[in-house]
Amino acid sequence: MESSSQRFVADHVSGLPRSGIRDFFAIVAAMPQAISLGIGEPDFVTPWHIREAAIFALEKGHTSYTDNLGLLRLRREISRYVEQNFELSYHPEKEVLVAVGVSEALDIALRAVLNPGDKVLYHEPCYVSYSPSIQLTHAQPIRVATAAEDQFAIDPERVAAAWEPGCKVLILNFPTNPTGGVTDKAKLEKLAKFAVEKDLLIISDEIYSELTFEGEHTSIASLPGMQERTIFLHGFSKAFAMTGFRIGYACGPQPLIEAMMKIHQYSMLCAPILSQEAAVEALKNGAPAVAKMKEAYHRRRDLIVGRFNAMGLDCHSPRGSFYAFPSIQVSGKPSIDFCKELLAQEEVAVVPGTAFGESGAGFVRASFSTSYERILEACDRIERFVAGDSVRSKA
Ligand code: PLP
Repeated sequence: MESSSQRFVADHVSGLPRSGIRDFFAIVAAMPQAISLGIGEPDFVTPWHIREAAIFALEKGHTSYTDNLGLLRLRREISRYVEQNFELSYHPEKEVLVAVGVSEALDIALRAVLNPGDKVLYHEPCYVSYSPSIQLTHAQPIRVATAAEDQFAIDPERVAAAWEPGCKVLILNFPTNPTGGVTDKAKLEKLAKFAVEKDLLIISDEIYSELTFEGEHTSIASLPGMQERTIFLHGFSKAFAMTGFRIGYACGPQPLIEAMMKIHQYSMLCAPILSQEAAVEALKNGAPAVAKMKEAYHRRRDLIVGRFNAMGLDCHSPRGSFYAFPSIQVSGKPSIDFCKELLAQEEVAVVPGTAFGESGAGFVRASFSTSYERILEACDRIERFVAGDSVRSKA
């Protein structure tokens, strides 16, 4: 039955690989006692005052659809927040769209601007959905590898070398999932110049921006002349620990937001109202809770990066996000084997770097979105594994 109905699946969907993370985590799910450094979401529960806002909204009977663009109250808060934190001014009635997470915002941004055959540049290793989302629009992904020796910052010269006629969009994500890489202002300025020269639209995924540990986060959209050619994507999942609320937003020039809105209105209609109510509260009063969670991530980052380097796994110190991306080349194993054996021998889950694209080969992603004590225990186990002292390896 399965094989006969396969013929109905569209060719470009058949050709898409399944997410490498999903396959690996099917194995992890069967081992509830394992310590997982694999998850891509905060270990914190959404701050209480934000949950309470959703509860109050439900109590008051706020159970309807909202405007397609989202509650105007929320769009006003987004506009204020983005102006205050990113020095970017967007009109709440025309230039802000509330979406079902950055996931939906990215999808509709790509669908709104790409024609079949257009080309999209993005840096890799990167978030698992970029390349498939591009392919689902019948456009062509073009990856630009980032390197550990550059602390996984994007190199504008590599972008220029990868560029081909037909490139229309450049996707950026700083701090980056999975590397924690950021790119300094001087390099962003070079990229901005290149974008103008080649008339590229930038889609900038800023979802980890609040979780920047060192230096100031700069959005490329805030550089001179860039706001008119950038779609700025942001959301609540990471910094506010609101993954399950499924809420994010896009800010950009009105014609682009209008084009995205058409797709959003026919596919999603609007983001869930209770999540929108919670998001208003997050933006109004969430800053202290975000600062507290960031402090915890910062402390854990210093622990895990220090331990990886001490056990011989070279690891740059991620300047943002909650991911460490150590090299496992000393083990001589491909990243998938390293992860499977580590899981089998020490019951610690990390994600193979190749799940984030070919240029992740030789690395693994370890999230520090788990408690300090569990990270300590996980590091002891990884150290034993790397040293070849795991009891089960000798069994
Ligand atoms: N962008 C990046 C870089 C991510 O890492 C993730 C989630 O892991 C997302 C977007 C998806 O975010 P959301 O929960 O807002 O859909």
